Parts: sequence; C-alpha cells; structure tokens
Amino acid sequence: MEGKRLHIINAALPSVEGESSQCGQTAGLYELTAAGGVWQSIERQNGINPGQPGFICLESYGTNVSELNEAVCLDLQGKLLLPGLVDVHMHLDKAFSLESAGNKSGTLLEAIHNYSHAVQGFTKEAIKSRMIKAALMALSYGTTTVRSHLDFHLAGGKELAFRTIEAALEAREALHGKMKIEYVLMTPYRELDLIQDAVREALDMGIDLIGGAPHLAPDPQASIDFIYKMAERTGKPVDLHADESDDPAARTVVEIARMTKQYGMQGRVTVDHLCSLSAMTEPDAEAVIQEMADAGIYAVTLPAVNLYLQGRGDKGLVRRGTTRIRELLDAGIGLAAASDNIQDPFHPYGRGDLAQIAAMTSYTSHMGGAADMQRILSMITTIPATIMGLKTYGIAPGNPCEMVITGEDTLQQFYSGTAPSRWVYSQEQWQAVTVHSRSYIDR
Ligand SMILES: [Zn+2]
Repeated sequence: MEGKRLHIINAALPSVEGESSQCGQTAGLYELTAAGGVWQSIERQNGINPGQPGFICLESYGTNVSELNEAVCLDLQGKLLLPGLVDVHMHLDKAFSLESAGNKSGTLLEAIHNYSHAVQGFTKEAIKSRMIKAALMALSYGTTTVRSHLDFHLAGGKELAFRTIEAALEAREALHGKMKIEYVLMTPYRELDLIQDAVREALDMGIDLIGGAPHLAPDPQASIDFIYKMAERTGKPVDLHADESDDPAARTVVEIARMTKQYGMQGRVTVDHLCSLSAMTEPDAEAVIQEMADAGIYAVTLPAVNLYLQGRGDKGLVRRGTTRIRELLDAGIGLAAASDNIQDPFHPYGRGDLAQIAAMTSYTSHMGGAADMQRILSMITTIPATIMGLKTYGIAPGNPCEMVITGEDTLQQFYSGTAPSRWVYSQEQWQAVTVHSRSYIDR
C-alpha cells in the first residue's frame, strides 16, 4: 500500500473493546498501523508497550500540524483513539447567526420567525464563511463526517432560497479533502403546488436528502405526502424534523412510519427530535415506538437544543424536552445524538463538540453507567454512520483511517472534558490539533 504510513502504540480503543470495558476504563491497549489513509492492522497489546526509539508522544509536536504530518511512529501513552465522530444533524447555514437574529422568548417559533427575517440580510459569502467556520470547529473536536440541514426560504423569493444552497455547495467544495458533508433540504410546507420545481432544482444541484418539519405545517399530512412523492421521484432518502414539541398530541412520526412502509423506504428515513414522545402516556409512547421499529426508521436526539427550547411553558419542574432515549435504544431503533444548532436563535451556545453532546445525552437520559457510556459512544459513532450509510466505518483493517485521539484515557473523562486536547486525522492527514495546557502557581 502506497501513501503515508502511521504506526501507533498504546492506544485505548473503547469502540473496539465495547461492553468489556469496565467502569468507563478500557480494558487493554492496542497497536495500530495505517497506510494510504486505510487501517492495516489493529492488534491488542500485552500490557503497556514501552516503545522503541522513534516513537514520539503527540504533545511533543505542540499544535504544529505540519510537523505532526511528517511523523510515522506515535506513542499515545494510553489516550483514547476513537473513530472520526459523525454529527448527523447540524444546521451549518445558521451557525453563529445569533447576533443578527436574536431570540427574546427562547421559543422555537420565535427562533424560526427571527431567522427567516435575518437571512434576508445575509450575503452568500457571509453564509458560506459561517458554514466553513462551524464545520472546521466541529472537525477540530473530532467530527469528520457531518449531515447538515439547509433552510430553503422560498417564501422570500427564489434568489433568497438558492443563496443558502449555493453557499452550502461552495462551503462543501472548500472543505473537500478535510471532512465529509451531506446536505438535507428543508422543504417549505406552504404552497406545495408552487414549490415543486424549485425543490427539484435544489435537489438536482447536489443536495443529498429531502427534509422538512411537517409538524409545523398548517397541513402536516399534505407536507408529508409532498416529501414522500418527491423522494420517490428523485430516489433520495428522507430526514425530517418530527414532533419537536412538548404537546403529546404531536405525532407526525406515526404518519411518517406509515408512509415509509407504503413507499418501501425502510432503512432510508430518519426522524429528529421526537420531544412529544416523552410527554405521552406510557402506552401511547410504546405504541409509537413500535410503529417506528416496524417501519425501520432511524432517529436522532438533539439534547442541547431541546433543553434550551422545550418546556418554555413549564414552571417549577421544567421538562427536559428530550425524547425517550433509553426506550428507543431498548426497542432496537438506531438512535444517534447530534449537535443541531450552534450559536444561533435556536441555541445560543454550542461548539460542534460531540463529547459535550454525549454528556448532555447522558444527563438527560440518566445513562451514566459503564455500559451506558459505551452506548452513548455508539450514538456519536457507529449509529450515525449507519444512518448515513457509511459502509466502511470504524477502526478495522481495510476501513478508512479516520480518527480522533483525545487527551483523556477513558470515556468518562472524555465526556467530562477533563483533558480536552484533540488530534484529528482524516483523508490521509492530520487535520486539526488542539493542545490543552494548564499550570498552577508554584508557591
Ligand atoms: Zn434541526
């Protein structure tokens, strides 16, 4: 195999060790080799490898990515090595728009309203540069693959709607060779008979999936019908915002499940949020989850934005807003956790760091045991990779060498953010390095 070589020793691999990990500790260390951007071998070591001359620790390169890219033999000294993280639900186009858009009430409806006004003042270049900034920030935390939804504001005219699409396509081109990005078109839900051609045109430009938010539509059924017809015509998969509401009566997911079966789209449909599932009675929630399982639907939980936007009408014991995370996983539904919005009217915080999202997922679902930490790791790695159809994902010989090495030694430390250094490798090179340092006064 030609190309750049890597030889790594003393790596902790919780994604390979799986449930055998104890208390968030990894049970063993590994030696790995890669060449030409492909994993060649992954061998379990017998204890710690003292290393030979030439094996250098990552910190010694500081943040000099170019110099690190010359290195072959690396001693991780027990650090975590994870497959490149997969953020399957972002809104890169909206990132960092908080200052322009604002959100006084902190509700979903004001966020949508304010952004739809603010976007009219954004140039294509401004949207593109914010998208690149958000994507690179996510990359720096270890995310090597992103699925981003894109707004499509046809109500403001065709030029406005296509401004975001063009910005997104140019941003993806600019990020070529660094990370993989997939786009979902948020189809409008009004005047469906007038928007068909524009939606088709946008999809044909290179948008990968059909999306939308039918629970917000004046006629959700008509919106869902439109989306599935468009999916049939274009052959594109579907990824929908669904039931992002505290109202237990919000259950468009049931209709989405029915349509998925009717159109034979099992395994090609993802639904995001499902907040109302938590507000339903137990029997109702069980029935909805069963419908989803029967239809082979994937799901994504977005705890940061749910904690921020949901429960706004509650006093005292405010609901968390997240879906039934453990129940969905227990039902065998492929449930990922993702970032959603970053520093925009939908969510004023965030940085595209899936370790932070993993911690929030753990808090909101009460999943903090050792096995839970492993399950949550799968929600930011293998499950979203499956949702995105990545067939050669993960640390195994023959698969692309995409990885993030962290300053921490265990998942529990990783989710806690105790040593937040990151070394991110994808597409045959080290892409980003963050080295955390701390000192205390010496007296
Ligand atoms: Zn979203």
